[in-house]
Amino acid sequence: MLEAIENLLILQDRDLRIERLEEELEQIPAKRAALKDKTSSSQAALDAAKRRVMEIESRRKELELEVKGLKERIEKYSNQQLQTKKNEEYKALANEIENCKRQITGIEDREIECMEQTETAQKAVKAAQAVADEARREMDGLVGELDSRETKLRGELASFEASRQEIAGQVEDSARNRYQRLFDSKGGKVVVGIQHGVCGGCHMRLPTQIVVQVRGNQELITCPNCARILYYTRDMDMVVAE
Ligand SMILES: [Zn+2]
Repeated sequence: MLEAIENLLILQDRDLRIERLEEELEQIPAKRAALKDKTSSSQAALDAAKRRVMEIESRRKELELEVKGLKERIEKYSNQQLQTKKNEEYKALANEIENCKRQITGIEDREIECMEQTETAQKAVKAAQAVADEARREMDGLVGELDSRETKLRGELASFEASRQEIAGQVEDSARNRYQRLFDSKGGKVVVGIQHGVCGGCHMRLPTQIVVQVRGNQELITCPNCARILYYTRDMDMVVAE
């Protein structure tokens, strides 16, 4: 095989690996963001559960204040009762006191309901907390994995880039430029083998003359149909024949 072809094949291998590494690296920020989204939704659920507890608690405090107000009114009416000499007025005040006491009983029932609701809401907070903690732990772990994967990929990328640089320096300019133009425009494999007289890139049958030239290993030959650089090794036909 032509040395230029051997080098171009290594160059192509490095370029394809670099491309794959870059693609994978590009996806990492989105993956990281998706993981963070997942924890933020469980955190939002936890916040909502905590808000619910506070809402019930503040309703219960309002009820407490209402009871306090009613008790003050009862006290005021009782004092007025002590001062009045009129039977009618005394009775009216007694009615008012009764009325306040009934209201207090009603409010106290609602306070008990509130306390029960608080208990349920606190259980919900506990459950949401567990879910959020688990999501956070899971995220920390996965983000850690992602971070080390990224570090590993960057290391591989750097080493492939260095190796690519070295190989590129060994390829003659015109061959390298031709390869580079093809790689940039077509992507994927641009140095392709011939198997049974067919181009490994576009799969078109090659003229015999071209196959003979490629077999001659004298110069870089390109496919007349797709312009990819062709190479030929004896084991290619053997592999297919097996
Ligand atoms: Zn072709």
